[in-house]
Amino acid sequence: MNNRDPGRASSAPPRREGESHDRSVVVEDGRAKSNVPVSGAVAEPEATTLRHEPHEPPRQHLPTKLFEKRTKVHNKRIDGPFRRFKWFVMLVTLAIYYGTPWIRWDRGPYAPDQAVLVDLANRRFYMFGIEIWPHEFYYVAGLLIMAAIGLFLVTSAVGRAWCGYACPQTVWTDLFQHVDRFVDGDRNARVKLDAAPLGPKKIAKRTFKYAIYLVIAFWTGGAWIMYFADAPTLVRDFWAGEAAPAAYITVAILTLTTFTLGGFMREQVCIYMCPWPRIQTAMMDEKSLLVTYKDWRGEPRGSVKKAKKEPEKFGDCIDCLQCVAVCPTGIDIREGPQVGCITCALCIDACDKVMADIGRPRGLIDYATLEDCEKEANGEATRPPWKALLRPRTIAYFLIWGSIGLAMLFALGVRSHVGLSVSPDRNPPYILMSDGSVRNSYTLKLRNMESRPREMEITLQGLPGGVMWTGTGGRDAAARTLTKTVPADQVLAVRAFVVRPEGADTQEFSFRVTSRDEQRETAVAEARFDTPGGSE
Ligand code: SF4
Ligand code: SF4
Repeated sequence: MNNRDPGRASSAPPRREGESHDRSVVVEDGRAKSNVPVSGAVAEPEATTLRHEPHEPPRQHLPTKLFEKRTKVHNKRIDGPFRRFKWFVMLVTLAIYYGTPWIRWDRGPYAPDQAVLVDLANRRFYMFGIEIWPHEFYYVAGLLIMAAIGLFLVTSAVGRAWCGYACPQTVWTDLFQHVDRFVDGDRNARVKLDAAPLGPKKIAKRTFKYAIYLVIAFWTGGAWIMYFADAPTLVRDFWAGEAAPAAYITVAILTLTTFTLGGFMREQVCIYMCPWPRIQTAMMDEKSLLVTYKDWRGEPRGSVKKAKKEPEKFGDCIDCLQCVAVCPTGIDIREGPQVGCITCALCIDACDKVMADIGRPRGLIDYATLEDCEKEANGEATRPPWKALLRPRTIAYFLIWGSIGLAMLFALGVRSHVGLSVSPDRNPPYILMSDGSVRNSYTLKLRNMESRPREMEITLQGLPGGVMWTGTGGRDAAARTLTKTVPADQVLAVRAFVVRPEGADTQEFSFRVTSRDEQRETAVAEARFDTPGGSE
């Protein structure tokens, strides 16, 4: 007797009336398989269903290796509006990087005259008319935040424009690719040379090319260290062998990394090493401008000859692969948006040229938003690309970016160029003098952030009966206000002794410092006067 629950007798679908085959068995890839859950089949020893073969062949579309050997990219020379814009950005960014340390900026005799300088020894950052002190590091943090929000703004508006035009990896890769063209020729010549066996001509060309790579890489590393010291002096010291070891080590590291990343790794840095493409994909949406292949217009692909014979059968793409040949990362944009696309738009230039040559309208590959692509594919009207820039998200980013910039400018404009900090002596906190008065000692640090010496008044605020003198004067010179000269762009440490008459209480008070010039800038620091009577 079968005492199994009839409701669970089999999980196979029942055979319908008139049905000749068992629906629990399906044929897939030429194999008979059961669509009965394995648990059901196991529960039913008499079940006649077939089970999956234990050893199915691996699915062909899954990668069998996680590492794919690099196919070298030999991108073809192209001219067009986007290439010219890329030239312009490349020249401007390289000129800024290599040239900035040589710009002079007169700050008077007491400060360096280099316009942009990170003065690690004196802990200052100079940027034209702005001088940032260590306690003002929040300005640097503000600049970094602005840079990050600026990138968000650019990405949400025009996709990966940073990657395509201004990222150092892109700029230096582009530079090295121009060296390739200069030495080895354009794409076809380079492919041929690569495939040729190593002979005297190839060795000579490779040696010459790598020597140029090295010069660029060395120059790049050399320019970097000039941001950290007076450039003309450092160059002299460097070649005389008198620069700091850190300078030689930094140049060596940067030469090596530029030579490797720009000369050999190139698009692999963008595709595999850089996290930014992944972050950017989270920032883009259907309203962001992307370099897009309009497949509804281009497909099915066919040559001009074929399209002439059967115009209705083919789209505008003639499958000439020019868009792939010019791509610096070697991808085919016709496969859709992908992480390897840095949106440099060189494929737009290439395809527009092809379209012009065969008399078809430009823009088969173009900057477009996914939203507009959909509209265009459905025959609806689209907005001009510049309108994609103005939308709530980009406006919000711009407002945040602008507000931080304005707040920083305002803070820089109104900041005081004097500063004061006070450290009391704690051991002992007070001294009883022979006349019964009580003395406390403090170290005052007077900060002069101007590049000229300044006289400053130090005044006691509060503390009735209190007078002070400094380490260079004596008690005879004690007063409630003293004057000190603080050297240009320096912090002056002053030992101050404050006394109060016998019987004075412990009391909070403050020191105030005021510049004795027309600015009359002030700074105040709180302190406490301790007495044997105990704390307040
Ligand atoms: S697909 Fe086009 S836009 Fe993207 S990286 Fe290649 S050439 Fe540049
Ligand atoms: S360049 Fe234009 S026409 Fe040629 S393959 Fe690319 S998309 Fe097609």
